[in-house]
Amino acid sequence: LPAPEAEALQHAGVAGLLPEPTPSSDKYRRGVLGVVAGSARYPGAAVLAVAGALRGGAGAVRYVGPPAVADAVLARYPETLIGTGRVQAWVVGPGLGDEGGPEVREALAQPVPVLVDADGLRGLDPGELRARAAPTLLTPHAGEAAALLGVARETVEAGRLEAVRGLAERYGAVTLLKGSTTLIAPAGPGPVRVNPTGTPWLATAGSGDVLSGLAGSLLAAGLPAVDAGSVAAYLHGLAARLTGGPLLAHQVAEALPRAWREVA
Ligand code: AMP
Ligand code: MG
Repeated sequence: LPAPEAEALQHAGVAGLLPEPTPSSDKYRRGVLGVVAGSARYPGAAVLAVAGALRGGAGAVRYVGPPAVADAVLARYPETLIGTGRVQAWVVGPGLGDEGGPEVREALAQPVPVLVDADGLRGLDPGELRARAAPTLLTPHAGEAAALLGVARETVEAGRLEAVRGLAERYGAVTLLKGSTTLIAPAGPGPVRVNPTGTPWLATAGSGDVLSGLAGSLLAAGLPAVDAGSVAAYLHGLAARLTGGPLLAHQVAEALPRAWREVA
């Protein structure tokens, strides 16, 4: 039989991937995530990405960005560390606007997994990504995917499976294409994973930023990028369903512990 082109994520499969702490865990081994996000124009994206990361179980989250945005992050999450330092993974892009270019490049140059979302996806160089020594996880929505592929948004919407495969191949990166069903393509061969959880109430400002932080947290915990993307999409959708609607993005982050317990 030929390998299936796509397969739905299942509860049991996701449960087996959750990085639960053990008695010997410490915060460093549980994973430190660096977050490059937010700008004067979009400070909330940084807060929401950090929220998703902390509620995604990271041992610690480091925020790198403008001081005024760092203050907003700290006001909401005093657990956040500020400034660069050793990290096991990076999230770059949510709410950067035109800022943060050098920090994005620096993260991509490091031999640790990097999740690239939102404004971080602009002007990505396929050659640079393919040459990276560690996995890359791209998390575009349809519009961002269209820009990366140089096609119209309608083309992506009409062929989402082809689009997510095309991006993964072109950038040599695990690619998570967001939408009413989220698809996760491996960087190499293997089926595309289809996330069955979620609710249209997720179509609201900031929900993607929470997903980025959550998936980054799982990368920092050591999950392979395709599993980090899959588990994140599954938990994010479940947390949204538990919240109900009209939901706010930060509520999805705060519902993640309940979603986690439901799956575990
Ligand atoms: P972003 O576009 O970056 O803000 O991310 C939006 C988030 O909401 C992603 O996780 C999408 O998969 C999810 N989402 C957006 N629209 C829908 C929809 N109609 N149904 C289910 N999930 C959605
Ligand atoms: Mg977004």
